[in-house]
Amino acid sequence: MSPSPTPSRLAVITGGTRGIGAAISRRLSADGDRVVALYGRDDDAAQLFAAETGITVKRCDVSDFDACTRIIGALEDELGGVDILVNNAGITRDGMLHKASWENWHEVIRTNLYSAFNMTRPIIAGMRARRFGRIIMISSINGQKGQMGQTNYCAAKAGLTGFAKALAQETAAFGITVNCVAPGYVATDMVNAVAPAIRDKIIANIPVGRLGAVEEIAACVSFLTANEAAFITGSTLSVNGGHYMLG
Ligand code: NDP
Repeated sequence: MSPSPTPSRLAVITGGTRGIGAAISRRLSADGDRVVALYGRDDDAAQLFAAETGITVKRCDVSDFDACTRIIGALEDELGGVDILVNNAGITRDGMLHKASWENWHEVIRTNLYSAFNMTRPIIAGMRARRFGRIIMISSINGQKGQMGQTNYCAAKAGLTGFAKALAQETAAFGITVNCVAPGYVATDMVNAVAPAIRDKIIANIPVGRLGAVEEIAACVSFLTANEAAFITGSTLSVNGGHYMLG
């Protein structure tokens, strides 16, 4: 197993101040990593999160390649190389394809898929040079099984798995692992925004009988960042309470 090059690893979490991302930021911070949580627009939530946790927060639109390049450059100048990248930021703009707008398609693909390139491209050369890295994409059960009304989201989330597998092959010899975590339905703002009747229908299809907890996703990310996980790359860890089996 290759050891981490620094005693305290630098972890960057996109969408790291709310929902699943906030739980990942808290968990990696508790693991002893130096965490920088990026967010898109919600300054109030980010400031509250920073005040509660002491975790550094920075605003960065992950759909903007130049913004991502700038922030990674600034972070590396200030704090050193990024050891862990969690591409978690994501949005939904649901609608059946025959009614879908090009704008919603583009926004979801830019935010959920281009972001993988935008964030990883400025980081990857440094990881290769230091011969260590952990890159984790937060995909989705809906990228695995499809979901009506979500052609944009499912295409983006399935795309992340292809991205991870290709990059895993490019970087395996450099001590870098690239994996996806594919959550099922988790109790966050994104899912709580769904109408209660639809939420009840979703839960009825989850063998475990409940939504997932954000901490359960964060625990999987933590595991994949560990030195003990060095032999896991190009994989997808499905965390869905058995939902995938029932479709
Ligand atoms: P939330 O809506 O609770 O949080 C989304 C986060 O992404 C926010 O921090 C938000 O920033 C950030 N974000 C959105 N757009 C951008 C952008 N353009 N640039 C930077 N940051 C942005 O989502 P969840 O916690 O529910 O989901 C997190 C991830 O997990 C997503 O990728 C989602 O697709 C995936 N997922 C979620 C599931 C669920 O059941 N919740 C199931 C499967 C996958 P801000 O705070 O500024 O708005």
